[in-house]
Amino acid sequence: MAEFALIDRFRQRALTRSDVALGIGDDAALLDPPKGQSVVLAVDTLVEGVHFPKGVPASAIGWKALAVNLSDLAAMGATPAAALMALTLPDDNMAFVDEIGAGFSALADTHRVALIGGDTTRGPLSISVTVVGYVPRGAALLRSGARPGDDIWVTGTLGDAAGALALWKSGTPMLRTGALRERLDRPAPRLGAGHALRGKASACIDVSDGFLSDLGHILAASGVGADVEIDILPASSALVAAIEDPHARRLLQLTGGDDYELCFTAPRKRRDAIQLALDAVATPATRVGSITEGARLRLIDADGLQVPTPERRGYVHFADGGA
Ligand code: ADP
Ligand code: MG
Repeated sequence: MAEFALIDRFRQRALTRSDVALGIGDDAALLDPPKGQSVVLAVDTLVEGVHFPKGVPASAIGWKALAVNLSDLAAMGATPAAALMALTLPDDNMAFVDEIGAGFSALADTHRVALIGGDTTRGPLSISVTVVGYVPRGAALLRSGARPGDDIWVTGTLGDAAGALALWKSGTPMLRTGALRERLDRPAPRLGAGHALRGKASACIDVSDGFLSDLGHILAASGVGADVEIDILPASSALVAAIEDPHARRLLQLTGGDDYELCFTAPRKRRDAIQLALDAVATPATRVGSITEGARLRLIDADGLQVPTPERRGYVHFADGGA
């Protein structure tokens, strides 16, 4: 395969940073982290037919492979610096690879992420990205800090990506799913919000598998429960227009994956500070419930009545899949 030409294209496109002492081209890359910062690392793999259907534009694959990783850094309150990309390709279709690179660098450039290395192999299409970022020592947002009485917040809107997938599976051509499809193909990681929430949020996670599922991780790690007010969960106008049945819509909001919003908790006395901090980075956020003692997750409707939790809280790895 024209592997070296390919790698050279990636090298040419990668931006330079002062903390990257050595990028693509040697056996490994060198990074000089700023003093007083912890290095934050995350890796995520997208496999064709599992995480995206055959036929998704290559640029969206490149974008999303980086986006899902940057979302993990956002949830830690970290600032991204660099990335490594392991590509497995079924053939040497250079135009296709170039499109992957274009989608990847469109997002990388926005957040000043340098591509510093990777690996290229032959096999069924998959892309695995590792991201490196920084967070001041001791300042990372963890899943384990939620306390009874804390508010539960969520950024943006829920259910859009799952809405696009639901429409597509029910036979609506992907081209006609508009704004929802954009959420599925090119999620925007909430890096500004994650940064703004340092020192303010008590716990944080990104919504990748489904709101209930991911909130459940905070509850388990913190040893607490939650009351969620389902009638105030944020929905986009695109979702409301596309999915008319309110029950179907609510299920997408509660259990749909791939939104890459942040779900976080914070003491009530920080409400104003959080609103101000998120306004400053133009990130909408909604208070959707509160943390309780015990371990129960309860769903409460507008009349204050408890409604049953869905059987499945979100995407189940190794059980679901097959996009
Ligand atoms: P090695 O055999 O020592 O692992 P490779 O030939 O795989 O070296 O890679 C050569 C250089 O190109 C390395 O710096 C590696 O990080 C980089 N590289 C390889 N594939 C990719 C890729 N898909 N994206 C970015 N950099 C890559
Ligand atoms: Mg190699």
